[in-house]
Amino acid sequence: MNEYDIVIIGGGPAGLSAAIYALRADKKVLVLESKACGGRIVAARDIQNYPGMMGVSGYELAKKMQAQVEELGGEIRYERAMGIKDKVVCTDGGSYKAKAIILATGAENRKLGIYGEDQFVGKGVSYCATCDGSLYKDKNVAVVGGGNTALEDAIYLAGVAKKVYVIHRRSEFRGDKADIKKMNDFSNIEVILSANAREILGEEKVTGIVVDVDGEEREIKVDAIFMAIGYEPQAGEFANSVELDGDGYIKTRDGVHTSAEGIYVAGDARKKDLKQLVTAVSDGAIAATTAIKEME
Ligand code: NAP
Repeated sequence: MNEYDIVIIGGGPAGLSAAIYALRADKKVLVLESKACGGRIVAARDIQNYPGMMGVSGYELAKKMQAQVEELGGEIRYERAMGIKDKVVCTDGGSYKAKAIILATGAENRKLGIYGEDQFVGKGVSYCATCDGSLYKDKNVAVVGGGNTALEDAIYLAGVAKKVYVIHRRSEFRGDKADIKKMNDFSNIEVILSANAREILGEEKVTGIVVDVDGEEREIKVDAIFMAIGYEPQAGEFANSVELDGDGYIKTRDGVHTSAEGIYVAGDARKKDLKQLVTAVSDGAIAATTAIKEME
């Protein structure tokens, strides 16, 4: 069985940052990633709030982080981790022994769970405005959600689509004031508050969405619906190894230690107020340096 100093599960910004810190401390490091490196930043059209990184797309930044890990001698395997037993990480491709393990499994898009959502994924339902927005040039689209992602998606889509409906369940947005203000500058954005999406309409592809606005049903004709209702932590596979909270996040007493000795957490798989690239990268650095300190 291959043995490493540190096995990092997850190749997003938290995991790659942890890898960079561990490699620079001369540790033998394996990063396990089930899809592509970069995590959710890959979908970011341009990174606007990471110091010193203006005009860089999330994809470009992710590629640079990955290249940095590889240049430092880190090994990246595209395998899905299925569980941990006695400091051995089991994946769909093998088993890897580690002195320390860092869980940087992040979070995935939350689903609305309404009729038509699963059926129309790729046929009008999207979780990434940056990736799919250009398909709807001069069309009518909707964004569901009221956080920063929904606001940013609406602003981006307003520059592409004919009209953008923003459907949010509460009477006010939770996203940043600056983006709310910016959104109000677009005449082709219509905000529909206190509105719950009920059903997605269509046959071959999306043709509309039914929303309940203050108890009254309204049918809105759109060609695409961009879901931006937050994320769900991806830690279920490790529930037998570390304690999770009621929402499925990895429990941590100090932001880095899990309930299991030698297993650390970094990034959005733990509960925190600010889920940002900058905090993910910071988490990764702290997890790696803590792990190294405690294994010596
Ligand atoms: P979020 O902040 O968790 O917001 C999710 C939104 O979806 C909320 O408005 C929530 O409504 C709504 N929602 C959740 N479940 C719903 C459901 N079942 N039905 C209808 N609506 C539902 O998620 P996010 O906007 O993706 O942001 C995630 C994190 O990334 C946040 O910390 C955010 O600040 C950060 N972020 C930052 C930037 C930036 O700074 N540039 C950009 C994007 C994201 P309620 O308001 O009623 O709860």
